[in-house]
Amino acid sequence: MSGRSRPRSAFLFSFDNSYARLPQSFHRPARPAAASAPKLIRFNQGLADELGLDVTDTDEGRLAQIFGGQVIPIGAEPLAQAYAGHQFGHFNPQLGDGRALLLGEVIDRAGRRRDIQLKGSGPTAFSRNGDGMAALGPVLREYIVSEAFAALGVPATRALAAVATGEQVVRETMMPGAVFTRVASSHIRVGTFQFFAAQGDEAAVQTLADHVIDRHYPEARDAENPYLAMLIMVAERQARLIARWLSIGFIHGVMNTDNMAISGETIDFGPCAFLDEYDPRKVFSSIDQRGRYAYANQPGIGQWNIARLAECLLPLLDVDEEKAIEAANAVLKAFGDVFQGAWLELFKSKLGLTGEGADDRLLITDFLELMHQGEADFTLTFRALSKVAGGSGDEVLTQQFNAPVSLSDWLSRWRMRIGHGRLPADLQMAMETVNPVLIPRNHRIEEAIAAAIYGDFSNFHRLVDALSQPFAEDPATADLRVPPTPEERVTRTFCGT
Ligand code: AMP
Ligand code: MG
Repeated sequence: MSGRSRPRSAFLFSFDNSYARLPQSFHRPARPAAASAPKLIRFNQGLADELGLDVTDTDEGRLAQIFGGQVIPIGAEPLAQAYAGHQFGHFNPQLGDGRALLLGEVIDRAGRRRDIQLKGSGPTAFSRNGDGMAALGPVLREYIVSEAFAALGVPATRALAAVATGEQVVRETMMPGAVFTRVASSHIRVGTFQFFAAQGDEAAVQTLADHVIDRHYPEARDAENPYLAMLIMVAERQARLIARWLSIGFIHGVMNTDNMAISGETIDFGPCAFLDEYDPRKVFSSIDQRGRYAYANQPGIGQWNIARLAECLLPLLDVDEEKAIEAANAVLKAFGDVFQGAWLELFKSKLGLTGEGADDRLLITDFLELMHQGEADFTLTFRALSKVAGGSGDEVLTQQFNAPVSLSDWLSRWRMRIGHGRLPADLQMAMETVNPVLIPRNHRIEEAIAAAIYGDFSNFHRLVDALSQPFAEDPATADLRVPPTPEERVTRTFCGT
């Protein structure tokens, strides 16, 4: 940590830092490191408006200073949050923000509390052996995917700014450094609860739970047991979130308990990736050698993570330990039920099914099985099915299958099921509002990063702009929709460290 004090900027944020007011054991003061030549890569004006930031008199150079950590906004109380976590199943009692700091919290225009965090801004008390920096590539990846999520309507942290620091960071090779400004409804993780529970500090667990209830689950306050109600709501949001991921072919990549937000937002998707061809066992992350976080394992892992949260809360669930365990087990069962229900609804809408059919689940899983056998592109296949529903010929769909499978039996079952009283054009329109045509394809992200490392940010900006309209078939961005050629295919992704 550098002790050098930074100049304070003019009024920009109206901070109200509730986390800083929590006891000292929750956080450590932090200072951003020096950046020799901060340069603004991108600033998210739409999000700034949503947050109520007034940047009209703030030029690019000044924004680079602020979001590169060189000027601390008035009212900020920069701190690193303490947390623990299970990483690939192994518990680490001491993680914490090793390369991030929370500037503070603002109340946005809609009255919601939002964290403003700098990521890659230098070492903190929790950096262990890390340098606290972020390389340009992971910063751009997180920017692209965060904003793609926002446009897809899937809860996730947001990207406010990316700034190149002018510093070099040492990874496998030297890389340009960057700072990412992240906005979250909070950065409280399952691992934050674990941090205190592992120390046997029940009072701190309760303080944290009270903070979480006030902040994210105020309805829980009126329940007979607010902590149990909170746990139920966290589990429900997480189950729904993971169903959303599966519905867009998303693989988080590193679902450690420190990377699962209590708010139900997608967070810390370092080595994340989107499916090209459908394969439920797909893994991209280079560090996930056993496939723990494969596409189809995500609901089970989500439930496992919620079990770790429930363990932390046991003393708050009931004074009688057996009853507490019983209550926790009921939450875990409910997680499974909520996930199954949400998944069914999402995939029914992807297939254009309304109402209830006895065989809906089978119709969906049979289609997925055909997609798997047929090496069909996840995104474009559902989009093609939407067109077939609207009256296009079957070949629009069959074209998406790269290995031979027969779709005719399945298509006749599907036609029997959808053919009740809806105009084909209406059905197509409904399906096209849930089946995106454009996702952040891994090879396009890599291409944007590769060019940016040499100073060309045009692909990055084009990709972010295009992804703001994931459901629209804009001819100008048709190339971004195409699956990778064998040479373009990305087989491995790496986390941001
Ligand atoms: P992740 O799995 O990427 O979310 O990070 C796991 C832990 O490692 C967190 O405590 C991070 O703050 C920490 N960490 C990751 N990269 C660095 C780095 N370059 N310097 C210091 N700490 C890091
Ligand atoms: Mg993390």
